[in-house]
Amino acid sequence: MADERLYDHAPRFLAIEQAQDEVSARVEYLLQSHEPQPVIVDDPYRRLLLSPEEISRLWGLFPASARLRAANNPPIINVDTPRWFAHGSSSEEPAITDRLEEALSATAHGLAHNDENYVITVHEIPENGFSQATKRLVQAGALIHEMAHTITDPELNETDPLKRLEFNSGRVVMARDWFSAFAELAETQPPISRYSAAYRNPDLTFPIDANGYYLGTPVVEEMVECINAELLGYIVNMGGLTFEPFAGHGTRQVDIQRYLQARAVQEAIKTI
Ligand SMILES: [Zn+2]
Repeated sequence: MADERLYDHAPRFLAIEQAQDEVSARVEYLLQSHEPQPVIVDDPYRRLLLSPEEISRLWGLFPASARLRAANNPPIINVDTPRWFAHGSSSEEPAITDRLEEALSATAHGLAHNDENYVITVHEIPENGFSQATKRLVQAGALIHEMAHTITDPELNETDPLKRLEFNSGRVVMARDWFSAFAELAETQPPISRYSAAYRNPDLTFPIDANGYYLGTPVVEEMVECINAELLGYIVNMGGLTFEPFAGHGTRQVDIQRYLQARAVQEAIKTI
């Protein structure tokens, strides 16, 4: 069974459309108040609802320390035609189609994804019953989400114990150890968003593998959605759209800020 929270964006579009004036004012303010940072955008047919200049300001929402840690800085952004999630999609594996007739619904369309080289592809948003202004705001969130993945995912997959994160406190840890600690705390609290909630177990714990380790994707999706909430100041969670995304989440906002401000360091090999 496909978890509709993963594939059908209707509640997100609806919540943003209902609060459109406020969300729009916030996003426009954020775009104007942050310096543009270089991005590589290939959008020859102008399918995106944000200009390359606006996308460069979205990248500018990330602290410099976080941008420096990204797999690609500047980020590389391509654009493609609409894609929908088809019948047969499961929580593990989406079924993708470029034909609306095969889609789960008109709002079950892909927004964006990263490939194995952390190149971001944004899909044109098809006719889905929502306004251009709402689609544009959703697309801004999708871009922040994918940009965040270009930072979190390489760090999750980093196995070299010499490559570490140094926090402003001076603490130096392997990123994956920090991710595990984040997950332990996060699973005592509600998921930050409707989307990240889809990756939790029914009892809100994170899924683990046969050896008792957290599966990476659910933890990273929660982190990425927290970064989204931190940088944009709103999120759509199971209760709808909130401008206080971290209410009820303990130290989570500060933890995410510290994570974004950390530096990548290479520990020297210690010889005895
Ligand atoms: Zn994601």
